[in-house]
Amino acid sequence: MLQLILPVLLSSLWAACAGSGDWCYQSQFSCTHQCNEKWDHANQDCGGSKQSPINIVTRKTIKDERLTPLKFSNYQQIFKSSIKNNGHSVQVGVPHLSTISGGDLPTTYKAVQFHLHWGNKGGPGSEHTIDGEQYPMELHIVHMKADYADLTTALRDREGVAVLGFFYEVSNSANRKYDPIITSLQSIKAANGNMSLPSISLAQLIPSEQNMTSYFRYKGSLTTPGCTEAVIWTVFENPIPLSMDQLKAFSELKFSDGNPLVGNFRPIQPLNGRKVFRSSGAVVLVSSALLLATLAAALGLSQPN
Ligand SMILES: [Zn+2]
Repeated sequence: MLQLILPVLLSSLWAACAGSGDWCYQSQFSCTHQCNEKWDHANQDCGGSKQSPINIVTRKTIKDERLTPLKFSNYQQIFKSSIKNNGHSVQVGVPHLSTISGGDLPTTYKAVQFHLHWGNKGGPGSEHTIDGEQYPMELHIVHMKADYADLTTALRDREGVAVLGFFYEVSNSANRKYDPIITSLQSIKAANGNMSLPSISLAQLIPSEQNMTSYFRYKGSLTTPGCTEAVIWTVFENPIPLSMDQLKAFSELKFSDGNPLVGNFRPIQPLNGRKVFRSSGAVVLVSSALLLATLAAALGLSQPN
């Protein structure tokens, strides 16, 4: 029975809002309502073969020596911006000053905006999953090739966009670097709510550079319609800590229909033969280091201190 129900459930998770040009997440509807529509009706690219997000099976990732640490420029730059509940997520525009390069990216990419995907009150909510594990939230910092003036143009280039994905994990203490964002959420609970954000930098939102050397790389798409397959994905292994209260604050936001804006993640998409690469610092190496340590302990070798 489960085998029959699962495909139906999975396909229904991909809901589009019937009759309008808009789209939505399944969490916005009960399964008796509008569950038979698919996002590829919203945009045919959503039915493509290189879609995101994906589940990353770490033992199947391929270690790539070219995936050296990314070079972050002007990520410390403090900027003023506005934060908006766009009815699907919380989004912050970023002045095009911060850039990334290196790590086998074909060129320099400049930051355009960031937004988040989350679950219900700190429950599972990331878009990418690692070995089937879904984290409570995921940050997407969207970049485009430095030569382009706008995202629309960049999305016509198969490598026009680079998105950095970061997971979150629950920590015991609040992450004070997120106070400006978390506090602002109070004022933008309604869809289209918008307010100016106190000064922040991108660097304060993400792990320190030495904790960003482990990452996964694959080619995919935007995870919202039009689902354009123009994205070089970099998904970092080390999560960002937030307290449960901080995570729960996102569940206070509302979709356009007034219901809680929760579960705004797209279901995982088939790999369709795509390869996922990992930087030399990534997880599988950690396991082999552990294995070596275990072996050494078993053999009674003393560890230098
Ligand atoms: Zn996203």
